Amino acid sequence: MIITCPTFVARVTAMQEAALGPLQRAQCRVHLLYCRDCQRYLQQMEQITAAARVEQPPEEPDAAKLDALKKLLPPRS
Ligand SMILES: [Zn+2]
Repeated sequence: MIITCPTFVARVTAMQEAALGPLQRAQCRVHLLYCRDCQRYLQQMEQITAAARVEQPPEEPDAAKLDALKKLLPPRS
């Protein structure tokens, strides 16, 4: 089964989120084999994702951290 470029593009996000089934992943891989446009698109997406990861470190859950710390501390008398 051959998928089109719009289908591929729509699936790239899902693929990055590991939300695709094995068949859908295989279709995307096959599409990539012959479609230069989507190869380029995927490359750009990966660069953007990588750049975003570097610029934005994972958010620290401050409130949750504080709660955990409070639980570790002995109750005040
Ligand atoms: Zn394509």
